[in-house]
Amino acid sequence: MIPQSFIQDLLSRVDIVDIVESAVPLKRAGANLAACCPFHTEKSPSFTVSPTKQFYHCFGCGAHGTAISFMMEYHGLGFIEAVKELAARVGMVVPAGETDGARQANASANAHIVDALTRASRFFKDQLRVSEAAITYLKGRGVTGEIAARFGLGYAPDGWQNLEATFPEYATADVLVEAGLVIRSDEGRRYDRFRDRVMFPIVSTRGEIIGFGGRVLGAGEPKYLNSPETPVFEKGRELYGLFQARRAIREADRVIVVEGYMDVVALAQHGVANAVATLGTATTPFHVQKLLRQADHVTFCFDGDAAGRRAAWRALETSLQALTDGKHVNFLFLPDKEDPDSFIRTRGREAFEEMVERAEPLSAFMLRELKSGLDMATPEDRAEFLKKAEALLAQITARNLGLAMRDAVARAAGVSSASLPEPVQRATQAQAGPSRRSNTARASLLNNLPDRALEALVARPDLHLLAGRAAAAADGSGCWPMVGDLAGRVATGELSPSPQALVQWLVDGGNDGLAQRVQEQLMKRDDDYAYEDDLAAIAERLEKQRKFNQQLAAARQVQRPSDLPPEARALFASGSTPAGTA
Ligand SMILES: [Zn+2]
Repeated sequence: MIPQSFIQDLLSRVDIVDIVESAVPLKRAGANLAACCPFHTEKSPSFTVSPTKQFYHCFGCGAHGTAISFMMEYHGLGFIEAVKELAARVGMVVPAGETDGARQANASANAHIVDALTRASRFFKDQLRVSEAAITYLKGRGVTGEIAARFGLGYAPDGWQNLEATFPEYATADVLVEAGLVIRSDEGRRYDRFRDRVMFPIVSTRGEIIGFGGRVLGAGEPKYLNSPETPVFEKGRELYGLFQARRAIREADRVIVVEGYMDVVALAQHGVANAVATLGTATTPFHVQKLLRQADHVTFCFDGDAAGRRAAWRALETSLQALTDGKHVNFLFLPDKEDPDSFIRTRGREAFEEMVERAEPLSAFMLRELKSGLDMATPEDRAEFLKKAEALLAQITARNLGLAMRDAVARAAGVSSASLPEPVQRATQAQAGPSRRSNTARASLLNNLPDRALEALVARPDLHLLAGRAAAAADGSGCWPMVGDLAGRVATGELSPSPQALVQWLVDGGNDGLAQRVQEQLMKRDDDYAYEDDLAAIAERLEKQRKFNQQLAAARQVQRPSDLPPEARALFASGSTPAGTA
């Protein structure tokens, strides 16, 4: 493997501005440089390069990374080729004879899984050609050969070990189990996970098969079966059909989110090619962020029944934080007993598109749901409405949307908007004003501490001691373990203290989504942003919380307050008396 130290050295010597500029002309935009994005079609530049942090980020499509990623993405090079090419440009020689090791082994383990899934997919496709039952099923659904080919549909035949035909190493290869294709029973017997199902390959945005969804042909259970989570497949991050839909999404500037694979395929069959599906999970923040990167308009499409409304409400709550001004999230509810598949087959494309046009904006859906079951003519119910609404308003990070929603809520409750709490000002929104903004930073601390700490650490790796302190006091949720790990690597000198080194390490470790989120935040901030204030406040707050929890736990152990040490006794006085000990 190429030693990490060489990569770091290389990244500190190449200038990303030169690397990008030789491919795309850059214009100065404040502290950064900007261009129309080479990775997606656009008219106004949202592709940004930071000369100080040495990375690029596109606010349009989310493309991001270091000089190495740029060589890989733009010039279509592999990691090693990209490193060699960059090294040649700055006159460095890649150390020879070190082409395997942990990182490579990891990458190649993942490559083996993808390879196994790809081979399985070919097998399933071949089986579809000869399975009358599966062909009949798809024909019955109106799916043509062309669409089946576009989505790589296949068929897993009935029987326990059909994959043995294409994997001679079936009985021994661990990769088949790791890839989720084969299940090993407690007695050590192996059998195919997918049997007698139409197979829908799940494709990553890089075009690799990372898993499968299988739909049972007849009446069996479960109706849909997904690949388990594997090193290459995380359900909460992936969207079925996104790879195939990308062009259509860009053209329509809208992505439609449905619930099933068959819905995506049926919509595409009828000319609505900009639809994707979640993979049997509720909508996650990753989904929403991914979707909002693809288009300015996201339309969630749900069944009109109670379950559909609950799922829609979850999607609304998840969207509130991710929404930025200029982005639109809408909700569409299908008529009773219909799904997108049945709807478009019986009523056609125009009727479906008309429904998409008329889909309810997030704001209207939110107000309607909040009011449902309440009698807004009574002060008591209006108070209840306000209480629920205020909790949601506090989630909104988009400045203008936040203000407008506050007005709308106030109007609906018949109060003046001045009587509602001020919208929380978040540092991500505060792009203007004096460069040192400790106060806004402090206000934003209420949100997502681990992400904020990671951002601070990547921007200012020299603050690794503070970041490490925060991670040590944290509860290990979110990306806290990552913060601790990274801070440790900087402390020991394993990673050089530069933002690009940390970003590259995240990307290499498969934490691409995290790297992207962090970079997006970083690009929005001034170079002299007071990260030390942020990190110190986070660490302090977590340490206080930890101490409080410890004292509370200690207080629960004793019978009488007089047995307590003085500071724990104060907890009793402050009203935190644990039940049963007073
Ligand atoms: Zn872009």
